[in-house]
Amino acid sequence: MTHVIIRNKRCTGCHMCEYACSAHHEGAYRPSVARLFAAVNPTTAEIKGHTCLQTACAKCQLACPYGAIVTKTVSMKIAGSFAGKKKIGGLLLEMAAEADAVNYCVLGIGIDVNNPVGDFAADLQRDITSISVEVGHEVDRASFLARILKEFENRYLLVESGEYETITQEWKSLSATLENRVQIRTLKNSFEGEAIDIDEFGALIVRKDNGKLERVVAGDCYQQ
Ligand code: SF4
Ligand code: SF4
Repeated sequence: MTHVIIRNKRCTGCHMCEYACSAHHEGAYRPSVARLFAAVNPTTAEIKGHTCLQTACAKCQLACPYGAIVTKTVSMKIAGSFAGKKKIGGLLLEMAAEADAVNYCVLGIGIDVNNPVGDFAADLQRDITSISVEVGHEVDRASFLARILKEFENRYLLVESGEYETITQEWKSLSATLENRVQIRTLKNSFEGEAIDIDEFGALIVRKDNGKLERVVAGDCYQQ
């Protein structure tokens, strides 16, 4: 996904980017409705840029007099699937959104189904596996896919009817991340701590080493 990021070190907090974005998208010079913003702490004067997740139209970038806005393409890996401690699959979610609406989400799911252990590189064989290795025989991939789509649809219907609690409870009961030490890497920072919860919106709650709780919506999560 391509989007823009404010580089905090270069940003002066002039807000020109917010004026440009709101003028382009809303027809008015109104920073409060811009898709990105630079928050200036009134006490410390520290500036923290908040990025825009929309595909970069980059009007903000053109307007920035200090070259503080860069365009980046990133992938957001939001989860992995495990058999015991071994990885058996992964998900990749890409999204285009505006301030108050999601334009689309594309979800890719990759699962090692009938891969023999020998298919994996020697240095990975300790950490990854496949379904056939775990159950001891080959699996019919068409039936397996049908089952996944059926289970996916069941959860999708729950989301559509607003029953998030049911999903998060099931998620928590199956999570290999909770109650483990993790390292989080986001676009802006990186920190370590203990994964202690998943909130009702699907954010991971991490207790950092200084005791503070951090809510992680997107980024890479490495179990330690
Ligand atoms: S990329 Fe476009 S939508 Fe996003 S903040 Fe910049 S001007 Fe606004
Ligand atoms: S225009 Fe550039 S310097 Fe000004 S607030 Fe936006 S990012 Fe920061």
